[in-house]
Amino acid sequence: MDFTLSKEQRDIVRAARKFALGEFPDRALEFDREETFDLDLWRKACELGFVGVFIAPSYGGAGMGFLEHCLINEEFWAVDPGIGQAILSTTFGSELIGLFGSEDQKKMILPQLVSGQAIMGTAITEPDAGSDVTSATTTAAKEGNKWVINGNKMFATNGNIANYILVFCQTDPKNPTRHERYSFILVQTNTPGYTSKKITGKMGIRASDTAEIVLRNVRVPLANLVGKEGEGFHELMAFFNRTRLHICGQAVGLARAALEESIRHTKDRHQFGAPLASFQVTQFKIAEMATWVRAARNLYYEAAWLVDQGKIDHALISMAKWFSAEIAVRCVDEAVQIYGGYGYIDEFKVNRLYRAAKVLEIYEGTKEMEKIIISRTLLR
Ligand SMILES: Cc1cc2nc3c(=O)[nH]c(=O)nc-3n(C[C@H](O)[C@H](O)[C@H](O)COP(=O)(O)OP(=O)(O)OC[C@H]3O[C@@H](n4cnc5c(N)ncnc54)[C@H](O)[C@@H]3O)c2cc1C
Repeated sequence: MDFTLSKEQRDIVRAARKFALGEFPDRALEFDREETFDLDLWRKACELGFVGVFIAPSYGGAGMGFLEHCLINEEFWAVDPGIGQAILSTTFGSELIGLFGSEDQKKMILPQLVSGQAIMGTAITEPDAGSDVTSATTTAAKEGNKWVINGNKMFATNGNIANYILVFCQTDPKNPTRHERYSFILVQTNTPGYTSKKITGKMGIRASDTAEIVLRNVRVPLANLVGKEGEGFHELMAFFNRTRLHICGQAVGLARAALEESIRHTKDRHQFGAPLASFQVTQFKIAEMATWVRAARNLYYEAAWLVDQGKIDHALISMAKWFSAEIAVRCVDEAVQIYGGYGYIDEFKVNRLYRAAKVLEIYEGTKEMEKIIISRTLLR
């Protein structure tokens, strides 16, 4: 925990850590092996106020900042990334509703997310459109008082279990400016024409649901447009400026757990008549990991704090996202090395951390995309 946090923030960290340590360890291996999750755990986290803390009190939230949401992510991911993601991703999309949604949309959705009555997701990626979001081909056409949506979405978190999915669609496919073709449309997943299929065999975070979605003539009211027609791309960038911060909390939690597991193991495990901790090569690994964790945490604290003050620093957010993801991968690689053969077996926590880490460098913008944003800002 960091001295820069307020008493209230330190209390949140303590409470989140206590909850995660009390609830996650006994179920983590089962959920990982069986690629499943118990939604009662999510309901419990909602009851205790850990879900959607950044949502305004007028919509049932705690009215805290994204920094507090990151702190909870850090604590949950430090205990188990899969369960952390399964619980805290249930509000994925509420950031966009909060920024651009109508009053009716906010009143309908946000209280349900906070109180454990509904789950949300956001579907941007498509089979042939990943980093280049402006190649997405899902369309929403106006027909009378409805949008008619057609297309395929890929890798949508919560796509099989969500009540609401925000869909990134072309609403003006002929617009010569690609960035002005898109809008976000809210889809209730029980609408006819919405079907989803679970993606199994993920490397990590297997407690978290991931889906392929097919939208065939999905008809929703025109009022389901979120934000402004044609502004979807710019709204997406504003959304990422919040959601990328969450990934930083996840990454630092995972990296910290790798460090803690490494410290424990190097003290317990003896080889050549001495604990691993007595070998300088191991000591250096610990020193490096601790420094990376601290540096990544300070980056995300600053980036999130600024966002909570209404100051968006795109390059800083991308620095924090890329760096924290990269050091998470590095830390857990060292942790598995320190565990030797045991680290290769899924019963050991470092194994689950190792498999979970890679996604941090992929989702919400790959590390290459983050570096493009940073360098573009500097070279502009
Ligand atoms: C577990 C999981 C959950 C996810 N959840 C969601 C979700 O809820 N909603 C959603 O919409 N998406 C989700 N995604 C998708 C994720 O955001 C994408 O996988 C990611 O944006 C990358 O897109 P892609 O996989 O198509 O890779 P591609 O875009 O095909 O990239 C492949 C590689 O090429 C590199 N590359 C691409 N373009 C360039 C370039 N111009 N310069 C240099 N390198 C480049 C990339 O950095 C990457 O290394 C999820 C993915 C996973 C694995």
